[in-house]
Amino acid sequence: MNSQLQVMKFGGTSVGDASCIARTAQIVANAAAHFPCVVVVSAMSGVTNRLIEAAQKAAAGDSSVGASLVKTLHKQHAAALEVLIKDPAVRQSVMKKLDEVLAEAKRLCDGTALLRELTPRTLDELSGLGERLSAPLVAEALKALKVPSESIEATELIVTDAFHGGAEPLMDLTRERSQARLSPLLDQGIVPVVTGFIGATADGKLTTLGRGGSDYSATILGAAMDAAEVVIWTDVDGVLTADPRLVSDARTIPVISYREAAELAYFGAKVLHPKTLNPVMRAAITVSIRNSFAPDRPGTKITPEGRSIGGGVKALTAIRDVALIAVGGPGIVGLPDVVGRTFSTTAELRANVLLISQSSSQNDICFVVSDSDATRTVEALRKEFAQDLAHHKVEHVTVVSNIAIVAVVGENMRGTPGVAGRTFAALGRENINLIAIAQGSSESNISFVVEDRAVEKALVATHKEFRLETAAN
Ligand code: ASP
Ligand code: MG
Repeated sequence: MNSQLQVMKFGGTSVGDASCIARTAQIVANAAAHFPCVVVVSAMSGVTNRLIEAAQKAAAGDSSVGASLVKTLHKQHAAALEVLIKDPAVRQSVMKKLDEVLAEAKRLCDGTALLRELTPRTLDELSGLGERLSAPLVAEALKALKVPSESIEATELIVTDAFHGGAEPLMDLTRERSQARLSPLLDQGIVPVVTGFIGATADGKLTTLGRGGSDYSATILGAAMDAAEVVIWTDVDGVLTADPRLVSDARTIPVISYREAAELAYFGAKVLHPKTLNPVMRAAITVSIRNSFAPDRPGTKITPEGRSIGGGVKALTAIRDVALIAVGGPGIVGLPDVVGRTFSTTAELRANVLLISQSSSQNDICFVVSDSDATRTVEALRKEFAQDLAHHKVEHVTVVSNIAIVAVVGENMRGTPGVAGRTFAALGRENINLIAIAQGSSESNISFVVEDRAVEKALVATHKEFRLETAAN
């Protein structure tokens, strides 16, 4: 383990404007006085969306979008710089660097508009520009606090496969490059400020790790650098027992296990990118979630074992904007390859399957994907099973929207009888209809599908049943 190295990641809202960046820089300065730090930053909030929108407009042939994008982003970043950096000469040299990045944005938009074609690679280059603009700002804000700092593009550090829009890191190469580049800086007491979200293939093509991927960048670097801890600084207090917009007495969970956090991230509690914990699990690096707007609060610590509590249930979560797809009919009983072909099809599309359920009568396999994957998944399945549909071996490939998944999560539910019973009894009392149910054999997650309009009621009823507002979590 690298003595006490801490990787600190700041999300878009934590670098959203000059005062947020100043607050962030102060948090880093306080930490850097005690131990070596690597900072990872997202784009200023809203910037990535704006870049993607511009890319899409350019693809539709809008040739003016590049110029207007550059104007807006220049204005936004210059305004922050103006407040953060007092020395006009420094300000000018930083703005020059940012304008070079913006010139790339314009070239990419103009080229896309001309060709009316947006390749995944170009989309990555465009959408990854926001981090390349925010990292130099944060590095300068640190220097203004007398903390030596250098901004670094993660294309120099994180080596990935070539899957644009959702690349996976190649850890051995990433480790080699990150240590070679960052260790000398750390040895000199310099705080590297690294762009989140992006990486590059071994031959240098820029890739992105998927939306919200800066969390993932932070744990990739944490693992690559053998950090002692990764801290995700965000705009909420940590992992909550439920979404506070739906359950008013939801509370922050102080300690949670990797497995529980992964279940929650996967299941739509939008605090962490779903892949965030993968890189650090083997090395057992603690990941903390803290609120950069309230840095005195303790937040949530994610550790290998978490902390055991009574009833076993830690938190509830819901995923909305999903669709239930069913492949079935009595004819599939005993057809050995239906399951295989169904999920080869989803795998080929890289459609993310969120829940699977098949009852032992084998009449029907159903699974849930996000709304955005639903249409192409159903189309692909109808094609895959065209012959079987024609011969009535497979009766239907159907899709139901307006549903949601609710999950009850807790590692200590394993071996605790009665959790499912209490969950379903609570739902029954509220007259909530269950469309499908799934519990993996890890027993740390019971998930069920309900109509979307029943989500709030389902969460409130289960939160109350397990007394999550009072539990000594
Ligand atoms: N800026 C990227 C996004 O908005 C990555 C991140 O913020 O984590 O998706
Ligand atoms: Mg995020």
